[in-house]
Amino acid sequence: MTADGSIPAGHTRDPCNNIPKAAAMNSTVSIVNVENERIYEAVCRAFEQAGGKQAIGYNERVLIKPNVCVPAPSGSGMVTDARVLEAVTRLVLDLGAKPVIGEGAAAGYDFVGASSTEEAFRVSGTRAVADKLGVALRNLNRDDSVELEVDGAFVMERATVARSVVDCDRIISVPVLKSHHRTLATLNLKNMKGVLSGAEKRKTHRLGLDLAIADLFSVVRPDFCFVDALTGLQGLWNYPEDSVSLGLILAGANPLAVDTAGIRLMGLDPNQAMHLQYCCRKQEFDAESIDIVGEHPERTPQPFLSSSEAFLRRFPGVRFVQGQRACSGCVGQLVGALAYIRDAGLEHTLKGLTLAAGAPFREEVPGPRILYVGVCCKEQTGRNGFVPGCPPNEEQLLRKLGSICGFDAEQVLARRKIERNKLWEQTRNLLNT
Ligand code: SF4
Repeated sequence: MTADGSIPAGHTRDPCNNIPKAAAMNSTVSIVNVENERIYEAVCRAFEQAGGKQAIGYNERVLIKPNVCVPAPSGSGMVTDARVLEAVTRLVLDLGAKPVIGEGAAAGYDFVGASSTEEAFRVSGTRAVADKLGVALRNLNRDDSVELEVDGAFVMERATVARSVVDCDRIISVPVLKSHHRTLATLNLKNMKGVLSGAEKRKTHRLGLDLAIADLFSVVRPDFCFVDALTGLQGLWNYPEDSVSLGLILAGANPLAVDTAGIRLMGLDPNQAMHLQYCCRKQEFDAESIDIVGEHPERTPQPFLSSSEAFLRRFPGVRFVQGQRACSGCVGQLVGALAYIRDAGLEHTLKGLTLAAGAPFREEVPGPRILYVGVCCKEQTGRNGFVPGCPPNEEQLLRKLGSICGFDAEQVLARRKIERNKLWEQTRNLLNT
């Protein structure tokens, strides 16, 4: 450590002081079909086929990092399925290692007025898995933090991360398979963003998300990766309509190889995932060199939908303009709010509305009914509607939309309350099956 308490460049967890370039790592990716709901067996098979036994040692402290970015139920494709998390945690226990589950929900969460990581743990079933297996569960947004120096940074010279990341011997990443409106896909590389301490997550959007993810990868790299591809999520991440059922588990020691395979599995082009490309360039890794065992990655019947395609299909009367800084915080809150309005039968009131997030240029935003959302837009609002927040609060969004579009927001909020209470019930049913 340096005198100011930060950890110098190249020094993260003790066993990983000399992180090898990804080009030198085993790039086998295993894709396994889950048969008859036997998830634990599928996880173990994927782990073995990808040479996982060398990745985790007896008695090692293992941080398991799922993707539980928001309060959403298991099986939706939005968060790592609690059954996959349970299987991975059991596997780590069976290897004689000491697992801890850790996650910090999306940028903007864990702040006053926003949903919390704890709520995400409860709704997704993550809390239930930790309790059942007697494993510690950490909210990484509330963890002590340490600063890491990034050697040869593109944009982020220092990364403030949760202490748990450097206090463990190994990291296992367990994201769920999702396409993403900004980064094309969100898999193991983007999953690591959850270890950045609270407000630090937002910084990555200001700096440039793809480059910041590549910088973070230089100092925090999972030692083994799974992907929960039981159910993936496409388009606007509005489950169940955007959920895609695949019934697969992916595994591999090399995050660049696993993410490449995951993107191909979604029918998308890894060359268009810029964060992956930046990592490959920095790590001198050739994505063509990956070795797939098991199922073929090009088996998806049709490519996952992009968010703009899905938005046009689903809300044809609404324009959505996203600036350079738009992130899943604002997009997710907006899409969630619009879906509740539609489910309440009030979609017709949205006709002619323009929504703007992520600081687009003003001339890109056509009137007359305009709502700017999120603090990124605060300089541009002028005489138009504006909901602050990072991300904005969904309830405030619904109320503002009600006043602009002339519908009764209370009616929509009442419906939302009923729907939310169903979420945990869905997860509980899954865990009991
Ligand atoms: S205001 Fe919205 S778009 Fe901007 S960083 Fe926050 S959540 Fe993302």
